[in-house]
Amino acid sequence: LPQQIATSAVPFAGAGLDRAAHRRRDKAWLDQAFNSDAARVLVMREALPLVEGSIGQQGPRPVIWLGPQAAMLSQKAQRLFLGETAKGAPVFALELPSSFDLSSSPVAGIGVFEDFRLAAMGMSETDASAAVAARALFEWHRRHGFCSNCGTRTTVEEAGWKRKCDDCGAEHFPRVDPVAIMLAVVGDKCLLGRQAAWRPGFWSALAGFVEPGETIEQAAARELFEEAGVTAKGPARYLFGQPWPFPSSLMIGLILEAESEDLKVDTSELETARWFTRDEAAAMMAGTHPEFFAPPHIAVAHHIVKAWLEG
Ligand SMILES: [Zn+2]
Repeated sequence: LPQQIATSAVPFAGAGLDRAAHRRRDKAWLDQAFNSDAARVLVMREALPLVEGSIGQQGPRPVIWLGPQAAMLSQKAQRLFLGETAKGAPVFALELPSSFDLSSSPVAGIGVFEDFRLAAMGMSETDASAAVAARALFEWHRRHGFCSNCGTRTTVEEAGWKRKCDDCGAEHFPRVDPVAIMLAVVGDKCLLGRQAAWRPGFWSALAGFVEPGETIEQAAARELFEEAGVTAKGPARYLFGQPWPFPSSLMIGLILEAESEDLKVDTSELETARWFTRDEAAAMMAGTHPEFFAPPHIAVAHHIVKAWLEG
């Protein structure tokens, strides 16, 4: 994977647009902005972004920004307002219906709808931030079309940042699901685990959703004990976060010390887990380990292991 392309330390966590939230309720301004020549429109189909190049191509793959003509691609497209660029250009995202056929459209040949993770490797920091927000919002709309209070179909408000139930009046806001992802360390070793569904040789940091009624640090300690039988020694320390729109996670990267190397793996959650020495982890990160490999640059787990290796 082209690791050198990402400009921020943690992909998706770099500087984004000015979200200009005060514009979201101004329908007249939004319509005028969307139809202006300054408009920049990110296009997606089934949460896959339109990027330059061809399917599966390696190397940098810039996002294709269309202008107001994007509205002509489909009457059924859903529109989001993402914010404004530093120069004040309004930025929107459109999701085309799954039936949309690029090859017979007015923009045939311009690019392709590409796997999000692959495409994201070639995006600038700002473009990736916009694409992550758009994907997370489109996924939320796709899964939350009905009121969770009364079951009635809800309508989109605030330029895509809210849904409202006209029957019971409930307001619904986009989900963000916090996930504690943590590297347990003891002495000169770190703990990585494997799920049975993963590619052979692939290991990563343990992770789990934060549950109601607990802090991030408590979630990390609980998951570590539940999945690996490892007791945390002191609270987890926060390293960095990463929005992860598959569909709505916020990855919260942590490091914590373990009481001992004793393991008791819960095989309903993990296939296995084991301690790796610093040398083993470094080789996995560098791609030189004969058997095992670590998470790719795009994953926050990569950066957690890197931070530990670098002290
Ligand atoms: Zn309702």
